[in-house]
Amino acid sequence: MRVLFAAGMHRWAEWEAPLRRAIAEVGAEVDLVLVSELAAVEAMIYAPGGATPDDFGPYVNCRAVLSLWAGVEKIVGNPTLTQPLCRMVDPGLTQGMVEYVVAHAMRAHVGLDRVLAARDWQPVVPPLASERPVAMLGLGALGAACGQALAGLGFPVLGWSRSEKEVAGISCYHGAGGLRRVLEQAQIVVTLLPATPATENLLNAETLGWLPRGAAIINPGRGVLIDDDALLAALDSGQVGQATLDVFRIEPLPVDHPFWAHPRVTVTPHIAAETRPETAARVIAENLHRLQTGQPLLHVVNRAAGY
Ligand code: NDP
Repeated sequence: MRVLFAAGMHRWAEWEAPLRRAIAEVGAEVDLVLVSELAAVEAMIYAPGGATPDDFGPYVNCRAVLSLWAGVEKIVGNPTLTQPLCRMVDPGLTQGMVEYVVAHAMRAHVGLDRVLAARDWQPVVPPLASERPVAMLGLGALGAACGQALAGLGFPVLGWSRSEKEVAGISCYHGAGGLRRVLEQAQIVVTLLPATPATENLLNAETLGWLPRGAAIINPGRGVLIDDDALLAALDSGQVGQATLDVFRIEPLPVDHPFWAHPRVTVTPHIAAETRPETAARVIAENLHRLQTGQPLLHVVNRAAGY
């Protein structure tokens, strides 16, 4: 099976060896190439950026597009993409996200910024985690894992998803009514939703107003989930106590964006969770093996829902 690595030349050096190893391990018969006659391509490994295809039409024999990224908003609406699109669910990526979210939730919880800035003796004892409800917006591969890690530390975790779900250790809510119930209780909000028309500006002046005063926001999901101006206004009024943002409408975040200078905003440069070639290559190889042996593919994107 001819598989085109269409994730950009700049990624090839990092991915080639892990992919070849993983493909050999699953026993798939794959001719992995960086350049090919388009009609000969039977599957494609994809990531946005670089010289990646915009028009999937000429790949007439391509039966699957396998994304190296978990978020697929840059490709899911492409009308020329008629093949199944699989997104990345990678144990290394999930672990990275759990570590990022736990670190920043604990930082907000114990008031670490204040502790580090203080140069005087003013004891402020934080409540225990059990008294600090966390809202996990999104209960997918990443949100569920992060929610369960925080629940394991003692935080009451309120999860929110599109469909009704049960996740051990998390009180689950869904739909529009569920969002308000979750936000009204949350002192820390983590957004791990995909960027879709339904999630754009989900955190806006109205929904931020549902939070208890001083709540902390952690957004490693996507920049469009939050209305930037509403967040800045909520920070300035004290409605939101602090925000840790990893993702932005424009990346890199422009140097003159007010988030950089705001004293209660922490900007991280889209590093919450990287796809790790060693673990992610196994996911790609498993799907190539499935494609070759006629088994259902893993992590197929729901094109109508957009994630
Ligand atoms: P999943 O697709 O596994 O989960 C998405 C979750 O969001 C699901 O629980 C889904 O609900 C919920 N959801 C989607 N739309 C809505 C809606 N309209 N209302 C309520 N809930 C909704 O994705 P992952 O957990 O793997 O990843 C989440 C996002 O994290 C990615 O889309 C990406 O944007 C971001 N990400 C960021 C990274 C970083 O480094 N900053 C790295 C990797 C990913 P349901 O369960 O009902 O389907």
